[in-house]
Amino acid sequence: IAKERGKNRHHLFDIAQDDAVKVQREGLNAIRHALDHNEFVLHYQPKVNMRSGTVIGFEALIRWQHPKKGLLSPAEFLPIIENNPMNIEMGEWVINSALTQISQWQKQGLHPPLNISVNIAAVQLQQPKFTKNIIKLLKSHPDVEPHLLELEVLETSALDDISHVSATMNACIKLGVNFALDDFGTGYSSLTYLRRLPASLIKIDQSFVRDMLCDPDDSAIVEGVIALAKSFKRNVIAEGVETIEHGKALLKLGCDLAQGYGIAKPMPANEIPQWIDSWQCNEVWQQ
Ligand code: C2E
Ligand code: MG
Ligand code: MG
Ligand code: MG
Repeated sequence: IAKERGKNRHHLFDIAQDDAVKVQREGLNAIRHALDHNEFVLHYQPKVNMRSGTVIGFEALIRWQHPKKGLLSPAEFLPIIENNPMNIEMGEWVINSALTQISQWQKQGLHPPLNISVNIAAVQLQQPKFTKNIIKLLKSHPDVEPHLLELEVLETSALDDISHVSATMNACIKLGVNFALDDFGTGYSSLTYLRRLPASLIKIDQSFVRDMLCDPDDSAIVEGVIALAKSFKRNVIAEGVETIEHGKALLKLGCDLAQGYGIAKPMPANEIPQWIDSWQCNEVWQQ
């Protein structure tokens, strides 16, 4: 009986695995189709300086405008291409679109020239051609200052060869591009990355920020990361700033830069000029 059961289980496992392979294959085909038919879009979330009230830039966040399923968030499709070359292709599409957007905003006279940060997968950064591709992309947008492009490296993604990654980052920094360490504090080697990677900005992960008002441990982590950033001479921004109270607490701790639903949710590019006009940070935070 045991043997019989074992056999059955094996059989069920095979079916499950066949299904998973099928779902994965269908997912890849759908994304291939979406890339070829321009179904991806970038939404932009403002980043502000709460103390001065200035808008410092935007983070580009990818969405899939699916013809049947509506607007899909990255969690719903990025995992499918995690280990597929389409990852690289999509990454290039994102950087190219962000540069096109900066160029358009400049032409529209949006002031001051606004920085856009783009998320990059670790595999993208570990790719031998990464720097060459950045040079190519920057060249195709000669009106965009390279320092307006910032690349957010996800700190949790494993970087097998940290010295290679650091060399790649330095090559891009020479071109004028800036780097940020995303979701800082959630990875296994935050401190190693901080020490070894030449990122000028640290993004405090939203999980710490969200609970900092009610959880003393999270508050201590936020305070610690701000101090760490200062002693390493890096800028620091808080992610997931959902309320004015969060903003005020961060200002007290010495973190002026912020991003989160309390300031604005990510929005389509065409809503940005109007949002900038209506943005009244100081009136809310500085009283
Ligand atoms: P992330 O880079 O840490 O981006 C922040 C995420 O938090 C975004 O989710 C944003 O919409 C959300 N968020 C912002 N403010 C708040 C807030 O106040 N509260 C809460 N609860 N959430 C907030 P999104 O757009 O779903 O993106 C999720 C992740 O997907 C990103 O995390 C990033 O790691 C990845 N991602 C997004 N776009 C791209 C891309 O173009 N390329 C790559 N490789 N990854 C991307
Ligand atoms: Mg990010
Ligand atoms: Mg983040
Ligand atoms: Mg994240």
